Amino acid sequence: MNEKVTIVTGGAQGIGRTIAGFLAEKGSNIAIFDIIDGAEAVSDIRAKGRKCEFYQVNVVDTTMVKNAVDQVVKDFGKIDNLVNNAGITRDNLLLRIKEEDWDVVLDVNLKSVFNCTKAVVKYMLRTGGSIVNISSVVGVMGNAGQANYSASKAGMIGFTKSVAKEYAERGIRVNAVAPGFIRTKMTDALDEKTKEEMFKAIPLKRLGESDDVAYVVYFLLSQYGSYITGEVINVNGGLHM
Ligand code: NAD
Repeated sequence: MNEKVTIVTGGAQGIGRTIAGFLAEKGSNIAIFDIIDGAEAVSDIRAKGRKCEFYQVNVVDTTMVKNAVDQVVKDFGKIDNLVNNAGITRDNLLLRIKEEDWDVVLDVNLKSVFNCTKAVVKYMLRTGGSIVNISSVVGVMGNAGQANYSASKAGMIGFTKSVAKEYAERGIRVNAVAPGFIRTKMTDALDEKTKEEMFKAIPLKRLGESDDVAYVVYFLLSQYGSYITGEVINVNGGLHM
C-alpha cells in the first residue's frame, strides 16, 4: 500500500483510529475526517513515518465533506481509498425511539456514506480506487433495541452493492465489513455476568479486537482483494454465519 492515500472517517478514536494506524503501517498516507480532536491519532501515524492530516468534518454535512475531499486532493495529490467508519448509536426499543434519534443515526451512519463516497468517486473515476464501508453484524441479522442502528447498517450494505455495480468498470471496488462485538471502552466496562452471556453466543468465545477489523479492511483495500467487489465480510467470531 506504499504511497497510497486513504481517507478514514471517524479515524480519531476507536476502530477507525486502529484502521488508520494499521493502514499507515502498511505504507498508506492517511487523511482523518472526524468531529473530535484528531491530534493524537495524527501524531501516532506521523511517528510511523507516514504523511497524515486531520480534517475537522461533520460527515453529515454534504458541503463540508465535499470541501474536505477537495482539500485532501490539494494536500496529497490524489485519493486511492476511502473507509466509511464514522458511526453512532442511539439504542432503544422501537416504541421509545424518538424521531430525532432515528434521524441522527440514519444521517451519521448512512447519509455520511453517500456524502463521502460521492465526493471521492468523482476523483476515483480517473484513477480507480477502493472503498470499504464499516457496517455491523446487526445490519445483517437485526437486533432488538437497535431498529435505527440496524436499519442504517443494512442500508450501507445495499448502498455498497449498488455502487460496486455502478463503478466496477471504472476500476472502483466497494465492499463492506460487518463487525460483531468488538472490545471497546464500552464493552470493557460491562460486568462479568453480561460478558459471559455475550461469550455464550459467540462460537470463538471472545470479543473481537479493533485489529481484527483493521486486518480485513487492509485486505479488501489492498491488491490482495483486487478480485472482490460488492462483498460483505463478517468479522464476528461466528456470532452470525
Ligand atoms: P467510536 O464511537 O469509538 O468511534 C466513532 C468515531 O466516529 C469517533 O471518532 C467519532 O467522533 C466519529 N464520528 C461520530 N459522528 C461523526 C460525525 N458526524 N462526523 C465525523 N465523525 C463522526 O465507535 P467505534 O466502536 O470505534 O465504531 C466505529 C464504527 O464501527 C462505527 O461505524 C460502528 O457502528 C461500527 N461498529 C462498531 C462495533 C463495536 O462493537 N464497537 C461493532 C460493529 C460495528
